[in-house]
Amino acid sequence: MKFQYYMPTLILMGENCVLENRAVLAGLGKKALIVTGRNSAKTNGSLEDMKKALMANEQEYEVFDKVVSNPTVDCVYEGTSFAKENGVDFIVALGGGSPMDAAKAIALLSCQDIPREKLFLGGFGDKVLPMAFVPTTAGTGSEVTQYSILTNDAAKTKTSLASPVLFPKVAFLDGKYMKSLSRNVTINTAVDALSHCVEGYLSNKANGISDALALEGMTVIAKQFDNLKAFTLSTDERSKLLYASTLGGMVIAQSGTTAVHSMGYSLTYFKSIDHGRANGLLLAEFLKFIQKEKPEKIELLLEKMRLSSLAEFAGILDALLGEKEAVTAEEAKLYSTIAIQAKNIGNCLVIPTEQDLFALYKAVFGF
Ligand code: NAP
Ligand code: FE
Repeated sequence: MKFQYYMPTLILMGENCVLENRAVLAGLGKKALIVTGRNSAKTNGSLEDMKKALMANEQEYEVFDKVVSNPTVDCVYEGTSFAKENGVDFIVALGGGSPMDAAKAIALLSCQDIPREKLFLGGFGDKVLPMAFVPTTAGTGSEVTQYSILTNDAAKTKTSLASPVLFPKVAFLDGKYMKSLSRNVTINTAVDALSHCVEGYLSNKANGISDALALEGMTVIAKQFDNLKAFTLSTDERSKLLYASTLGGMVIAQSGTTAVHSMGYSLTYFKSIDHGRANGLLLAEFLKFIQKEKPEKIELLLEKMRLSSLAEFAGILDALLGEKEAVTAEEAKLYSTIAIQAKNIGNCLVIPTEQDLFALYKAVFGF
């Protein structure tokens, strides 16, 4: 047996965990940049709690609330200029994957001069501002990953900056912030978390620890399928989804994602389909593709979700996601050409060809 496991983020979970653990923030610096989206943190209580915690610690802060979904390179450079102008020495992220990923890039760029054209080339140094993350969606697991996924217009897709220095120091998990999530965002993000667990389990970079986390994550999410469909989620059930999405992040921190994410990025880039939804549309067909060569892996995954077949799994995703968008054969051809170049294609347990990717899009969208 030979493997490596690295996930250095302190995880603090529970109601009011930000205020109860404010001492952890005190060690991060004197002045924070709070990176967040335009609205939600102001109404879900996360911004208020964070301000209270920082004030009680006598720490200063500035707020950068300009992160939109699928953050752009422009947005992170703008945030970096704001961070430098204000002399902050640590970063707090409040929000879904978009503010969290933007915050990681800002933390990096605040310490290292990386020109825009070299941002996606990697090979970063070690300097980064310390980060504290508060996820307010239960989906991406970005609070425990070393990835910052940004819109890459030059490549017409989304590309990940990946470095061990991008792990946050601490993640605060409080399900109460999620009460205000809409049905769509709740479902799409839960499906993203499920996708991380499933893809991580079907990655050739998985190890025994990541598999254990992945199987636990999918078990927990599958128990919420009915509640997700009916959109009747208590705070406790939302906390379970948050726990599972953090597990999903811990999984992909080891295993990476696979073809589902590579293919989904085109659906987001060209069709503005939400990230989790894009993965969910593709997931069942990808499992059928893997099943042909690795039926035993699919069998265990179904057993953990208490499902009898992939057809049942596909039916649940269809019911959660509703009517699919239209994609033409020409579009799918372009998306396949782009997706096959993504690094995460190489993580698949069964590596697909470009023709396989096209066939997967065809099976999903039926053009
Ligand atoms: P998101 O883009 O961060 O947020 C989606 C929407 O939800 C926004 O309109 C946001 O509003 C709103 N929202 C957030 N929290 C809310 C709350 N508690 N109550 C009400 N509304 C709330 O969506 P996401 O799915 O969490 O993140 C997607 C991004 O994460 C993508 O860019 C994806 O590529 C990336 N991702 C990263 C990783 C990783 O490992 N780093 C893994 C998977 C995906 P506001 O804008 O007003 O806040
Ligand atoms: Fe994802």
